[in-house]
Amino acid sequence: MENSNNQTFQRLQSPMMIRSSPSRFQRVCVFCGSSPGKNPSYQIAAIQLGKQLVERNIDLVYGGGSIGLMGLVSQVVYDGGRHVLGVIPKTLMPRELTGETIGEVRAVSGMHQRKAEMSRQADAFIALPGGYGTLEELLEVITWAQLGIHDKPVGLLNVDGYYNSLLTFIDKAVDEGFVTPAARHIIVSAPTAHELLSKLEEYVPKHSGVASKLSWEMGQQLGHSTISDIAR
Ligand code: AMP
Repeated sequence: MENSNNQTFQRLQSPMMIRSSPSRFQRVCVFCGSSPGKNPSYQIAAIQLGKQLVERNIDLVYGGGSIGLMGLVSQVVYDGGRHVLGVIPKTLMPRELTGETIGEVRAVSGMHQRKAEMSRQADAFIALPGGYGTLEELLEVITWAQLGIHDKPVGLLNVDGYYNSLLTFIDKAVDEGFVTPAARHIIVSAPTAHELLSKLEEYVPKHSGVASKLSWEMGQQLGHSTISDIAR
């Protein structure tokens, strides 16, 4: 896996373009597979996303480590001179679990603290293809947006239609009355990193959150300061 990552990485190395217009985002959180995926297009997409972040002068926060797509995107952003923050639960820190770490590493006590810290640090979220971990992280930030806990854009990098069936399912949930059309609008998707970041830059939230009603319960679970930090 490391070799296949390295080969894809080397093939796609090219000089970075410097983008003149500033992004509205200082730091983007990327959720992605801890595996590289079978189709090389997933690895290529991870590298292209890293390049887009560098071109737009955006820093990265991610789950830490060098395995799978996580390793590819973080390496490109780091090599492009942007700040990389990896947030890793202490239990995942042994190298055999996450591989080598690059950039700044922040150790947290567990998976919930990791999600809260990644969310707090980011101005927007992007999910590359991934498995259960990626889906869980993605759906949680969508749920937080639906509740009005934050208004940060959430993007789905739909590489080769990987997420088509998820998007079809969510459209069914809208048709069946379980997701409101305004909440469906939270998910921004595009097939390429360039298109996705351009859409996220223009994103305007439509949903009306109910966070004020929930602030007490959420505060009990996550700590009041955490919730207000995520909303930043
Ligand atoms: P998955 O999509 O199931 O591969 O999980 C990827 C997501 O879960 C990442 O964004 C990480 O936050 C987390 N994750 C899963 N496995 C690991 C691991 N071995 N090391 C670090 N993070 C992991």
